[in-house]
Amino acid sequence: MRMGMEERERFDVAVIGGGPGGYVAAIKAAQSKKKICLIEKGHLGGACLNVGCIPTKSLIAHAKVVETLRRASDFGVSAGTLSFDFRKMKENKDAVVQKLRGGIEGLLKANHITLFQGAASFLGPNEIKIKGEKSAIIHSGKTIIATGSEPLDLPAFPCDHKKILNSSSILDLSQLPKTLAIIGGGYIGCEFASLYAELGVKVIILEALESILLQQGKELASFLTSSFQKRGIEVRTNLVVEGIDSHPNGVSIRIKGQQAVLADLALVSVGRRIVSQGLGLENAGVPTGPKGEILVNEKMETGVPGIFAIGDVTGKNMLAHVASHQGIVAALNATGQEALMHDNAVPAVIFTHPEIALVGMTLDEAKAAGYDAAAGKFPFAALGKSLASLEAAGFAQIIADRKTGQILGAQVVGADASTLIAEMALAVANELTLACITETIHAHPTLPEAWPEAAFVALDLPLHLPPKIKRE
Ligand SMILES: Cc1cc2nc3c(=O)[nH]c(=O)nc-3n(C[C@H](O)[C@H](O)[C@H](O)COP(=O)(O)OP(=O)(O)OC[C@H]3O[C@@H](n4cnc5c(N)ncnc54)[C@H](O)[C@@H]3O)c2cc1C
Repeated sequence: MRMGMEERERFDVAVIGGGPGGYVAAIKAAQSKKKICLIEKGHLGGACLNVGCIPTKSLIAHAKVVETLRRASDFGVSAGTLSFDFRKMKENKDAVVQKLRGGIEGLLKANHITLFQGAASFLGPNEIKIKGEKSAIIHSGKTIIATGSEPLDLPAFPCDHKKILNSSSILDLSQLPKTLAIIGGGYIGCEFASLYAELGVKVIILEALESILLQQGKELASFLTSSFQKRGIEVRTNLVVEGIDSHPNGVSIRIKGQQAVLADLALVSVGRRIVSQGLGLENAGVPTGPKGEILVNEKMETGVPGIFAIGDVTGKNMLAHVASHQGIVAALNATGQEALMHDNAVPAVIFTHPEIALVGMTLDEAKAAGYDAAAGKFPFAALGKSLASLEAAGFAQIIADRKTGQILGAQVVGADASTLIAEMALAVANELTLACITETIHAHPTLPEAWPEAAFVALDLPLHLPPKIKRE
């Protein structure tokens, strides 16, 4: 060793970031028996486990029990006076998160992955500096960047994390407010609106665009808007929030040309910021786009051969399962195998009440893509299982190519939409046809029976709905 040069531990693949993208990539890469390390500056599990998917779904599961008890009398059940302990719900949520963090740590150990606890930055394309309790400089043959995203904090909405919260700090509440104003009606804002309304909080959504949930298409957006309004959630659209003032009794939200909205707490949910600054990308020559997103090809490889990027930091389909899937693709390519990322069959679920799920194309998108597309829509109000469970709101819809019958997309709104979408993700990803669905026997009485019913509607041969074309 030359004087002044530290000996650097060498890894075949280094993964930066231990969220659902990074830790899955590390495990997949380790299956090739190569030497792998994972560098994480915070908690294992990333945004998804610590301040995203899991904590929100834990609280939503608790709220669902409250909702079911609230309408117990509909089922002829008397449950006495309804009360609940929000602090206990939060403790349960924290315990689930803790347990899953431990699970990831165990998986890393079992796969012989070296874990560095610290912040990573590139010194060069193959050299990474780790700043943490134990600082180090390592040499990496290949690198996978999975540094994710954080809540977007805008100067106009300064989060003090006491009264003006973001999607992370709202999860630390142990006491419910009476009123909550949510700035931003995207899927995260809508999930919090649904959750808090279920727990008896008066919720007001303030959205700049013409509708909440616009990204998911007008049909789903208008269904959710009317169902929110029926449940007492105030949905205000087409407005400009100019700022938020905090005062001893709550917050006051200034809206251009309108009266201020008063609430106990405000949740700012206006988007996510890509975490690519401070990574020393310039030292490795990794190109980024206008929002700081790391640009990648179908192999998830950046402009620098041997450096890959996955998950939210790429700015594409910012969802946990996409990050994990991209992680598998990147890990295979980084370990000498070959894989490509396909984005045509990404399921997305919005865990509101009612749940919303979609995959592939909407009818408008299919038409815009040049297909002679048909939509088959089947209402849950016509399905035995839904009626038997007193959960008849919503519909399942299949979009298909009339010429070939190929299923191009699907949307579902209603109870268990999150589970129902899996069958259609399989169908879209594998280019299945309407006939594949109608010829598959679905158990009765179950919610998935809605799919063959919707497929029959798309073929103009409905079974449990009257025919559209009357016979002579
Ligand atoms: C409230 C909320 C609810 C959500 N619900 C869902 C849902 O139901 N379903 C779904 O699919 N998605 C959901 N998401 C989105 C999901 O959380 C993200 O898409 C997912 O976490 C992205 O994974 P990732 O691995 O790319 O990044 P992240 O999960 O953001 O992980 C990145 C990790 O990298 C670490 N890191 C960053 N910089 C460095 C560095 N320099 N050195 C070392 N480590 C670093 C961070 O500490 C972090 O742990 C939700 C998000 C939010 C905010």
